[in-house]
Amino acid sequence: MDRYSFGLVLVLALASITVPSAHGWSKEGHTMTCQIAQALLDSEAAEAVRNLLPDYVNGDLSALCVWPDQVRHWYRYRWTSPLHFIDTPDQACSFDYSRDCHDQHGLENMCVAGAIQNFTSQLSHYREGTSDRRYNMTEALLFLSHFMGDIHQPLHVGFTTDEGGNTINLRWFRHKSNLHHVWDREIILTALKDYYEKNTDLLLQDIKGNYTDGVWSDDVSSWEHCDDLASCINKFAVESINIACKWGYKDVEPGVTLADDYFDSRMPILMKRIAQGGVRLAMILNRVLGESDEGLATPT
Ligand SMILES: [Zn+2]
Repeated sequence: MDRYSFGLVLVLALASITVPSAHGWSKEGHTMTCQIAQALLDSEAAEAVRNLLPDYVNGDLSALCVWPDQVRHWYRYRWTSPLHFIDTPDQACSFDYSRDCHDQHGLENMCVAGAIQNFTSQLSHYREGTSDRRYNMTEALLFLSHFMGDIHQPLHVGFTTDEGGNTINLRWFRHKSNLHHVWDREIILTALKDYYEKNTDLLLQDIKGNYTDGVWSDDVSSWEHCDDLASCINKFAVESINIACKWGYKDVEPGVTLADDYFDSRMPILMKRIAQGGVRLAMILNRVLGESDEGLATPT
């Protein structure tokens, strides 16, 4: 265990005691995003990730990908709470970093796009082997991995007034839910129940099949294409708000019942977002921790 991991292990041990409900991709969404990413790491990046993870997860990044949701309400991590999402102007259906990336007090860069830039930049110091104690590299890895999931959940880049669909109460088939939660978890759970015998591994296999030699295989190179990190991250957020408008909010009023039609048409979109999040997380980790000398232009 390196010095960075030590404090984290204590925190993680405590985190397992209280797991407050949180918005964010569900456990399943984050886990799959990280499993996809870890399988696509080159050997050097894979080793760096293993070194950064605490021993008790046996090298499994996905085991800690929900950790940022578990600690966001703790005093020590309360500052990270606005980093899970972006509020955009109601009905604008667009994302503009300088307009939208701030917390509710107007503090700049406090949104999921700013957080991805920040933690990527921190992690880029790992390979230099500097003993820069300003940064906790393990936490940077976990935050980056988590936020790459969040930014791909379309309703995490949603409208301000309805808090990304959180205040739009509705029914999902027969039970009460809200629009944000439908995209965080309900669609995934219904898919697991109806098609995958409640087995996340089977769903993950299907998603992997789609991008290795299936319907998305021609698209993967464009997903991971990135010359400049800041503009790539902005693109991920723009994609999300566009999907939120076109598919998330469309035809949804408070009190509505969403069922088969909504599920059938949205499920493939959501699975693709999980795949994109994973492929792009691997792209970033390979560039900052891996063999590639391509590097990544990151803000300092
Ligand atoms: Zn989150």
